[in-house]
Amino acid sequence: MSKILRINTRTREFRFEDMAGYAGLGGRALTSRIVSREVPATCHPLSAANKLVIAGGVLAGTTAANSGRSSVGAKSPLTGGIKESNVGGQFAHRLPKLGLIAIVLEDKPEADAPFCNILVKQDSVEFIDASDIVGKDNYAAHELVKAKFGEKVVTAMVGPAGEQSLAAATIQFSDPDGRPSRSAGRGGMGAVMGSKKVKAVILDPEAKGGVEMADAEKFKTARKRWVDILMGHPVTSQGLPTYGTAILVNIINEAGALPTKNFRFGRFDGASKISGESLTETIKARKGQYKHGCHTGCVIQCSQVYNDKDGNYLTTGFEYETIWGFGANLMVDNLDDIAMMDRVCDEKGMDTIEMANTIAMAMEAGLVKWGDGKGVIELLKKVGSADPLGRILGNGTAFTAQAFGVDRVPVVKKQALPAYDPRVIKGVGVTYSTTPMGADHTAGYAVCQNVLKVGGDVPSHGKAGQVEVSKNLQIATAAVDSLGLCLFVAFAVLDTPDALGVVADLVSASTGKPCSVDDIVNMGVNCLKDELAFNKAAGFTDKDDQLPDFFVNEPLPPHNLAWDFTAEEMQAAKV
Ligand code: SF4
Repeated sequence: MSKILRINTRTREFRFEDMAGYAGLGGRALTSRIVSREVPATCHPLSAANKLVIAGGVLAGTTAANSGRSSVGAKSPLTGGIKESNVGGQFAHRLPKLGLIAIVLEDKPEADAPFCNILVKQDSVEFIDASDIVGKDNYAAHELVKAKFGEKVVTAMVGPAGEQSLAAATIQFSDPDGRPSRSAGRGGMGAVMGSKKVKAVILDPEAKGGVEMADAEKFKTARKRWVDILMGHPVTSQGLPTYGTAILVNIINEAGALPTKNFRFGRFDGASKISGESLTETIKARKGQYKHGCHTGCVIQCSQVYNDKDGNYLTTGFEYETIWGFGANLMVDNLDDIAMMDRVCDEKGMDTIEMANTIAMAMEAGLVKWGDGKGVIELLKKVGSADPLGRILGNGTAFTAQAFGVDRVPVVKKQALPAYDPRVIKGVGVTYSTTPMGADHTAGYAVCQNVLKVGGDVPSHGKAGQVEVSKNLQIATAAVDSLGLCLFVAFAVLDTPDALGVVADLVSASTGKPCSVDDIVNMGVNCLKDELAFNKAAGFTDKDDQLPDFFVNEPLPPHNLAWDFTAEEMQAAKV
């Protein structure tokens, strides 16, 4: 039976607990329930009262396709609200081999205490000196961890940005190739882990346990149908595997919604140079991999391995959001420069969406010129160093804007906006504004209905239907995140009538507990209720559910549309 491992980072005591009041939950539903029940909403996010929860989903450890995503939860140092940061890597599938569904890091050591690594074994926990990797970039640190604990080691690690508890800091999770390439990026979860003086959580490479199927035959049948559903939809079987998420560069540019030069324009002249098509061509020419999974069991494989001009590995998990943020939004059209920015962010442990917007603030302030890719790389390298400018940048977009007197600041609840201009794709604007997470496209990806015409057709320029579509997607996403499924399964699920029933069968066959489509939907609803209640207790009000003024006051070329929802109108998007 799955247990929750609680580790006190100050006293170094630990205990393996039954799920008890958390039974039946996983992923985001579990992290948000623990945080909402156990963390005082008004506490300082870097204080001993905050807790960092890393959880696999309800389907973690099973062979259901695309079920190995992890959720990382805490009170966010970036937004001041609750946070679930979703990430790939091998962690979620390894946890059940240790009999676990989640690890909770509690309390915090004295300020002068050294960083430690935490090695988690089947029935024990070891605190290990981390001085050999403290201060090192993530790739070098991870190589040392592998040399010490074995090639098959699975880790969640903070880089120099997390060590300094900077609000844009990620936790980097190791991927199937043993690289620390997968980022729990959003909301500064790395800062929380760093505040607890934990450099890496290391899962025993020798762990041998696993999930016992309650009904193996039923699971086998549902699993097969699940793969057929994913492989039967053009987006999940062709678009994403061939071009990765960067397939969206040309699509969103064509829609006039590719934020360019800090959200001044909806189209970027250099879009074709940084498109998914160019990316795949470059990868093929350099003998990289254009199809790659962020965790074992992914059948969609939207990730890739991007090599440099000499054919040497440069980065992976090179997403549309990163390419947009460091590309169009900064007027950079050189893919190699953008790939290097992605690598630097993975090395220092920084969220690429937050940092891309942060660098836009630096460009507004004249610290680096628009389009100067090499200059951006040098600025990013300052984060995690002793340079005070690195500390400012590493605290994210809103903080950097304030430090340099910039008034064009694309954030909601202090979290930077992703790669879809909300004036043109209004459904995603409703999500940015109302999700408890702060601006987050994944929380309710209305690009599906607004642009891609998956799961329905809600015209993107008008207001009609946007609130409803965002609300439904926010519920569905919370459920998907709780099951540990990759969000991209939604493309196929939305267009396949029996898909949710198949997911319910996967859950009931693996757990032995009845599970209906309604149960799955309720998991999403209850998760959102937990999150909204936490944020309310933390001091958020309806007024916080709004985009910055410039989206209202500045129509976006070429469609010349402005944001025209009030915060009041959008309250119906909340459960
Ligand atoms: S589709 Fe992409 S994000 Fe989803 S599990 Fe596969 S590689 Fe990871």
